[in-house]
Amino acid sequence: MENNNDNNYEEVCAVCRRTESIAGKMIELQKGFCICNDCLQKSFDMINEMSNNGQLDELTRMMQGVDLQNVPLTGMQDKKDAEPVPGEEKKDDEKEDKKEEKKDDKKTTATPLFLNLGSIFGSNPNAERQRIKKSTRKEGDPPLIDIKKVPAPHKIKAMLDEYVIGQEKAKKIISVAVYNHYKRVATKTMDEIEIEKSNILIIGPTGCGKTYLVKTLAKLLDVPLAIADATSLTEAGYIGDDIESVLSKLLMAADNDIEKAEMGIVFVDEIDKIAKKQNTNSRDVSGESVQQGMLKLLEGADVEVPVGATSKNAMVPLTTINTRNILFICGGAFPDLDEIIKSRLSKQTSIGFNGELKDKFDKDKNILNKVTVEDIKKFGMIPEFVGRLPILCPMEELSEDSLVQILKEPKNAILKQYQKLLELDEVELVFDDEALRAIAKKALKRDTGARALRAIIEEFMLDIMYEIPKDENIGRVIITGDFIDGKGGPIVEIRTVEKIKKPSETESLPAPSETASGEEN
Ligand code: ADP
Repeated sequence: MENNNDNNYEEVCAVCRRTESIAGKMIELQKGFCICNDCLQKSFDMINEMSNNGQLDELTRMMQGVDLQNVPLTGMQDKKDAEPVPGEEKKDDEKEDKKEEKKDDKKTTATPLFLNLGSIFGSNPNAERQRIKKSTRKEGDPPLIDIKKVPAPHKIKAMLDEYVIGQEKAKKIISVAVYNHYKRVATKTMDEIEIEKSNILIIGPTGCGKTYLVKTLAKLLDVPLAIADATSLTEAGYIGDDIESVLSKLLMAADNDIEKAEMGIVFVDEIDKIAKKQNTNSRDVSGESVQQGMLKLLEGADVEVPVGATSKNAMVPLTTINTRNILFICGGAFPDLDEIIKSRLSKQTSIGFNGELKDKFDKDKNILNKVTVEDIKKFGMIPEFVGRLPILCPMEELSEDSLVQILKEPKNAILKQYQKLLELDEVELVFDDEALRAIAKKALKRDTGARALRAIIEEFMLDIMYEIPKDENIGRVIITGDFIDGKGGPIVEIRTVEKIKKPSETESLPAPSETASGEEN
């Protein structure tokens, strides 16, 4: 099947690593080994030059002295050199090579320069994955995104509501921004009236659902998504991932289809970590330089991207991606940004007649809603960078109520997941309201937002998941607030015959061991 699809992929020049669409038609020297016209011409020129000044003979002599045991050679080689390494089995394709060898033997001129590069490249299992899909679209074809199919903002928000709890304002901002973005992509109005790119900056404490919101969005819109961590990015040439690596990831997510990737979403998390470093004498390769490097991506440019790798140094094909229609969403917790906002606000009010007390802002839990571009700049983001993320989207810290909702309401809520798992053992899992509150309270204390929920539930569920399959008689387990607070065990109910038939009839049986009544602590 792979071979049938071969024509769907672009050939890549083995020398300069450019793809067919960039470098032009390729010449296939051997199966899976192509070279572009430019590189071929350059090689001829080089060989000519070398032959003119006698270097070619010298090189040939040198190559004959090379230990060729580990280098597969074909065609124009000495038979002795082609002996397989002892103990190594011959592969089918090698046998085929051998056949060709015989054919070519007559015209052999013993120039071992012609290595079986095809087998080197062709045998790389990743080679297939790293190939770029050919464009099947023609001039005048309708755009990949149909404006009529882009859901209206209220529809996007309604879809998000099914998964993301709370964060009403953020969901609204994102729905409108995404709608406008894809409208701009679909209508291609960029050239006439320049519609600014609606890249988004999400600001919110850890675990409030930044990544989750973006992931859900990409899934609902069915566009490829790449998530990158700004902390791993460094200026090109330094240890870490090059900035273009985010586009490599997007390309991978788009199944190496450039057109799909060019309409995808890139989420760069922890963007606050690349704030300008204050008082530093060394070169700021992971801070300001990364911001600088990201500017062209955010704005829209043709970027040369390594395919299937995070660095251009590796021996991988390169392709060009235009980022004009890629929606960039950056997210970060921006610790202490609230202080910056507070000090700005209190400065402003103290100028007025009734200088308001700073305390008023101290108590404001959602101070992030008042964030401005100035605050972000003060935090350490360079003005050009902030300028390219015109949509500021603050997210709130999750309240206890929201955490309870997160536990049970979203389509793939954690509780639903556990219930499903136990359902497979025909056991009903029930969390009573007190249990949910107790879990939310515990999570709040950990200060990692909704992330703590899963960790906490996992702690409690471990024993249950371990014990339940032991006893086939267990039909229902009720997790109570006391169990979560460490004051008792869960209520375990034995299965009855009717229960197996009708699990909805939940006439409770006395618990064999403990019983618990829910109490808030
Ligand atoms: P961060 O803001 O640090 O990127 P995440 O988006 O990774 O946080 O959230 C961690 C997990 O918490 C998510 O996988 C999701 O299950 C859950 N979560 C966080 N916020 C919400 C929310 N508002 N609604 C539903 N689930 C949420």
